[in-house]
Amino acid sequence: MEETIYNLDEHFEPRFIAPNAIDVEEEKVEITLRPQSLANFVGQAHIKEPLSISIEASKKREEPMEHVLLYGNPGLGKTTLANIIAHEMGVNIKITAGPALERVGDLAAILSNLAKGDILFIDEIHRVNKSVEEVLYSAMEDYALDIIIGKGPAARTLRMPLEKFTLIGATTKLNLLSSPLRDRFGHVYHLNFYEHSDIEQIVHRNAKLLEVDMDDEAAISISVRARRTPRVANRLLKRVRDFAQVRYDGIISQRIAEDALLMLSVDAYGLDEVDRKILKNIIHKFNGGPVGLNTLAATTGEDIDTIETIYEPYLLQIGMIERTPRGRRVTKLGYEHVGEKWIEQGEII
Ligand code: ADP
Repeated sequence: MEETIYNLDEHFEPRFIAPNAIDVEEEKVEITLRPQSLANFVGQAHIKEPLSISIEASKKREEPMEHVLLYGNPGLGKTTLANIIAHEMGVNIKITAGPALERVGDLAAILSNLAKGDILFIDEIHRVNKSVEEVLYSAMEDYALDIIIGKGPAARTLRMPLEKFTLIGATTKLNLLSSPLRDRFGHVYHLNFYEHSDIEQIVHRNAKLLEVDMDDEAAISISVRARRTPRVANRLLKRVRDFAQVRYDGIISQRIAEDALLMLSVDAYGLDEVDRKILKNIIHKFNGGPVGLNTLAATTGEDIDTIETIYEPYLLQIGMIERTPRGRRVTKLGYEHVGEKWIEQGEII
């Protein structure tokens, strides 16, 4: 299997806990830790089962799989799954991202180079622009490239046949995908936050791969702070390993792991300073909420997208904030977590 990566224009963030913050060094380790087969892909049983059936059926028919759309928060395994599909199908995968496909020509160049059965993976597919998206329609449906040549009354459409391929699209924001595009995917799968036991399994497996000697309690301490996200689990594991190698040697105990995590300001729920700042801001400046996302972003000094895709989903997931029609508000658990006194605020709006 060959993997080609086109100029990915990722907007990386230097934040530790953010599951999409990633640098070149980290990317290398990620590739080492990335499971290659469905069997090694932990959790997400609701996706693995139908996916393995589709893969097997397509292989039997010797046809490419139908297009697949994967959606879910950053770091939950969309890219990993795309690579696994390619691996299991025994085909090549070309990887690009929505923002990297600026012009129709960028997409046309990639599509026309696909061989029969190849997979094209488009990360952040909600960010492809309208003209590129329109070319995708015929490529996905008819395996043809419709290119308009010329302008005005002299313009004509040229149809160029393509090899049958599979498009795998990944997005964190399904609602930003237009329905004509969404409808062209034969499979649409939602990746959920992981169960703690799944994260624990991932931590154990990766500790082995990284040759880290760690006891079971230390693995639990890392897992519960991993925001139910494999990428965060891997990152915490690596930081704990660094800490243990510099300050200690030998087996990583629970105490060593917790000291390392404390040093990183990651608390028992896996929250970092920004999460706590968000909670405190809503409590102090908005009397616990409700507050709109824009106002919250402005007063916390964080960008809306970061709050919306990274911080809010996890805070909602663990029940520290809740969504109301008028905005977000902090729950009793959220108050208590940042050491504030909860006062019953009457009926929930
Ligand atoms: P996404 O594309 O959704 O942002 P990735 O596929 O890049 O996430 O996953 C981030 C890292 O998390 C990968 O390098 C991989 O090691 C790990 N990972 C993700 N999902 C799983 C899983 N189900 N089992 C084991 N490791 C996983």
